[in-house]
Amino acid sequence: MARIGTIAAVGAATLLAAVAAWEGTRPPAALLRPPGAGEPARFDARCIKCGRCLEACPYQAIHVAPLAAGVAAGTPAVDARAQACRLCPDFPCIAACPTGALAPVEGRAAAAMGTARIDEGLCLSFKGMRCEVCYRACPLIDDAITIDYRPREGDAIHAVFAPVVHEGRCAGCGLCEQRCPVSDPRPAIEVVPTGFA
Ligand code: SF4
Ligand code: SF4
Ligand code: SF4
Repeated sequence: MARIGTIAAVGAATLLAAVAAWEGTRPPAALLRPPGAGEPARFDARCIKCGRCLEACPYQAIHVAPLAAGVAAGTPAVDARAQACRLCPDFPCIAACPTGALAPVEGRAAAAMGTARIDEGLCLSFKGMRCEVCYRACPLIDDAITIDYRPREGDAIHAVFAPVVHEGRCAGCGLCEQRCPVSDPRPAIEVVPTGFA
């Protein structure tokens, strides 16, 4: 009996740690959904939590939202920092969805998972360093994200090569967020999920 009690205690501790880790990232409601999910209300009405999109993803980019996500627990979500979506050209996640919760999209740029936002206060490029990791990680490079050359006032030698995300052309895949070398207190570029701008 004591052993069962110990197992239960360890299980509860693990669950609490998972909840704490989850709550330390995004608010539970602001989940980054797989491609084709679209507006949250439409997706919420159609997703039956069957898990087929998870099984179809060759990159294990989709996971199940945990209990801490409240009513969204059990629905599919992408944690971009852990494993971003690769914007597969044939979108196997969408093809696997039986309800249309993940609706077909016309091309990778139309995945509409969200839009990446840059925190210029954290971004190394805005501090005068040639980082550009987010730019080079982007599968829609030179369309969703470009580099803007900006001279620095009063500094004739060091310019800023600033990454710029173009809303409406960014798919929200999160590869930029996954690869960003900044982590303290968070990545300098993060995806704001569709419906939470
Ligand atoms: S597009 Fe590909 S990588 Fe992205 S979630 Fe779907 S199956 Fe996974
Ligand atoms: S396949 Fe569709 S219905 Fe099933 S969990 Fe994924 S999004 Fe929801
Ligand atoms: S989320 Fe980042 S990597 Fe993905 S399309 Fe947008 S800018 Fe490019």
